[in-house]
Amino acid sequence: MVATGPWAGRFFNELGVSTPLTVTHQQVVYYPALEPGLWRVGRCPVYIAHGRGGFYGFPECERPGFIKVAVETNVAIDDPDEPPGPSDTESLDRLNHLVATRLRGIDPHPADVVTCRYTETADRDFIAARHPAHANVVLASPCSGHGFKFSILTGDLAQTLATTPGPEDAHPNWRACFALEKPAGGELATESRE
Ligand SMILES: Cc1cc2nc3c(=O)[nH]c(=O)nc-3n(C[C@H](O)[C@H](O)[C@H](O)COP(=O)(O)OP(=O)(O)OC[C@H]3O[C@@H](n4cnc5c(N)ncnc54)[C@H](O)[C@@H]3O)c2cc1C
Repeated sequence: MVATGPWAGRFFNELGVSTPLTVTHQQVVYYPALEPGLWRVGRCPVYIAHGRGGFYGFPECERPGFIKVAVETNVAIDDPDEPPGPSDTESLDRLNHLVATRLRGIDPHPADVVTCRYTETADRDFIAARHPAHANVVLASPCSGHGFKFSILTGDLAQTLATTPGPEDAHPNWRACFALEKPAGGELATESRE
């Protein structure tokens, strides 16, 4: 079973699978909370603004006194072995502006920027499928920036495929969004699908 996150595309290629996976640089930003009461858990929900200029964020919980907010970037990374680079300044400037103009009770000067990576399929769905030529190899990727909450289902489907024979669509819960083949012409969406 191959479930190697940002390295999945490289493994898939080496195994002769052509499904393209893109790795992008992402970053989350911590801002000081000037009015902590406004941002406390129980008063402030997790929030997402969709569409152009969209962003998402959280109540004050992970780091006391700070709020975590992010916009998705589309900065592609060629080599997942490269150490995470510095922040994407264009996205950071955009987020600073959004925080200053859309949110209140926050100092819009970033206290910290943490970088990480998305692995993305062409249609931003997931993968849990057998290798087309080697039925004993299962490929899995709960990816595309919204895969964490589907990771249990993805893992369950992957272990079912690994331990039982038969086509994917014979298995309960298997859906086309886990297929290896993605619709042609798909492109990275900038809009979050949370
Ligand atoms: C900023 C950010 C925000 C996100 N927000 C959300 C969200 O709101 N909701 C949501 O559902 N998802 C979200 N996600 C996406 C989610 O976190 C990922 O889709 C998910 O964690 C991917 O899981 P994975 O198991 O495929 O990969 P990973 O968690 O990256 O695991 C892959 C593992 O494979 C290991 N590995 C790699 N190569 C090898 C090897 N050769 N041998 C052995 N092990 C190897 C790695 O060390 C790693 O432990 C977000 C991601 C980011 C970066």
